[in-house]
Amino acid sequence: AIHIADLHKSFGDLEVLTGIDLDVRRGEVVCVIGPSGSGKSTLLRCVNLLEEPTSGTITVAGTEVTDENVDIDRVRRGIGMVFQSFNLFPHLTVIENLTIAQRRVLGREKDEARKVARRNLERVGMTEKESAYPAKLSGGQQQRVAIARALSMDPQLMLFDEPTSALDPELVGDVLSVMRRLAAEGMTMLVVTHEMSFAREVADRVVFMDGGVIVEEGPPEQVVVDPQHARTREFLSRVL
Ligand code: ATP
Ligand code: MG
Repeated sequence: AIHIADLHKSFGDLEVLTGIDLDVRRGEVVCVIGPSGSGKSTLLRCVNLLEEPTSGTITVAGTEVTDENVDIDRVRRGIGMVFQSFNLFPHLTVIENLTIAQRRVLGREKDEARKVARRNLERVGMTEKESAYPAKLSGGQQQRVAIARALSMDPQLMLFDEPTSALDPELVGDVLSVMRRLAAEGMTMLVVTHEMSFAREVADRVVFMDGGVIVEEGPPEQVVVDPQHARTREFLSRVL
């Protein structure tokens, strides 16, 4: 579903991604790990064009998003993104958070949008809170709502950038369970995470990035359990 070839990204003189090649197949879950500043977020943001790649090509579901004539809005519509911060609209209730983009961007009628919203709130275990405002929810609940909001747009693929790192430890599990279920349902997922147990259990493949390149990639039992490169071993010894 995602094909990335020789992706480079610079900010001014700083080259942050220096030739990334990565494929994520349909239904696959790929976890990206690596030290702070290695370019993980930049990689994710390039996939949905929140950052403009400096060179290289990215194809998402058959559309080359790096083609200068591409309809960026249409590309973004097909990609769900969940960030570390939950980014819910504070002045809207949970269900309004889920229906607004469906109505404005996809042009769905109110009833249809609410039906889709409720179905997705159920998927994340948040049906009871549909009338609550975000401020009344825990961080974990807000993040589950953010996931349901992304799902309500019927994305072909989901990008997660450290979705649990801003959460109190006791709230992390609920969000990871939701992601685990999504993975089991066959969602294509590219996940930046520090949760090594999640990466080990859920990822089809783990990618270790350092200094703007992919140092090592493979199944979790290889990359996380038996890494081949010294940099991977050194990183894992710090986070495990
Ligand atoms: P972390 O684990 O801390 O989230 P990361 O692997 O996600 O790190 P990035 O956020 O992709 O790393 O950043 C990679 C490098 O690019 C860093 O040196 C960062 O300072 C730089 N960078 C990121 N975004 C910008 C920007 N908009 N302008 C300038 N430099 C940037
Ligand atoms: Mg980051």
